Amino acid sequence: MIKVEDLHKSFGKLEVLKGITTTIKQGEVVAIIGPSGSGKSTFLRCLNLLEEPTRGRIWIGDEEITDKKTNIMKVRQHVGMVFQHFHLFPHMTVLENVTYAPTKVKGMTKAEAEAKGIELLKKVGLEQKANEYPSRLSGGQKQRVAIARALAMSPDVMLFDEPTSALDPEMVKEVLEVMKSLAHTGMTMAIVTHEMGFAREVADRVLFLDGGQLIEDAPPQEFFTSPKSKRAQEFLEKML
Ligand code: ADP
Ligand code: MG
Repeated sequence: MIKVEDLHKSFGKLEVLKGITTTIKQGEVVAIIGPSGSGKSTFLRCLNLLEEPTRGRIWIGDEEITDKKTNIMKVRQHVGMVFQHFHLFPHMTVLENVTYAPTKVKGMTKAEAEAKGIELLKKVGLEQKANEYPSRLSGGQKQRVAIARALAMSPDVMLFDEPTSALDPEMVKEVLEVMKSLAHTGMTMAIVTHEMGFAREVADRVLFLDGGQLIEDAPPQEFFTSPKSKRAQEFLEKML
């Protein structure tokens, strides 16, 4: 579903991604972990061209998104993204947040988008909040709306950048539960996270990034019990 070949990204003189090569299969759930500043967010943002790679190639499905001829807006329709700080539209209700893109970008009728929106809000346990404004929701509720909003575009892939890092501890679980049930539906997911228990339980593979390089790529049982590199060992000692 996703293929990344020798991906480099620099900001001015700072080389943040130093040649990453990997693939993510359809239906696979991949946890991306690593120290702060290692390039995790930049990597994820390259996958939907929120950052333009300096070098290397990326395919989503059959389409090479790094090809200059590719329509970026179209790529983003197929790749949903959830951020640490939710990024909901504050002046729209929960349901309007979820129906906005499908009606504006996909040309769905309002009725169709609302029917689908309510169904998605049910999935994330928030149909009773459909007519509230985001400011009246808890952090965990806001993040669940953000997930429903991304799903409303029927993406092929979902990217999550530390979706629970800004949440109070008691709200982390409700968001992870929603992500877990999404994983069970067969959604292809790439998740930057510090939730090691979640990565271990839900991910099919762990990618460990350090210093802009992919240091390890292994199933979670293997990564968490016997990391091969010294850098991963040291990172895990600090985390666990
Ligand atoms: P992580 O998500 O693993 O913490 P990031 O991908 O956010 O790491 O950042 C990796 C490095 O790239 C950091 O040194 C960060 O300061 C730098 N960086 C990220 N975005 C930009 C940007 N837009 N301009 C300049 N430097 C950036
Ligand atoms: Mg980050």
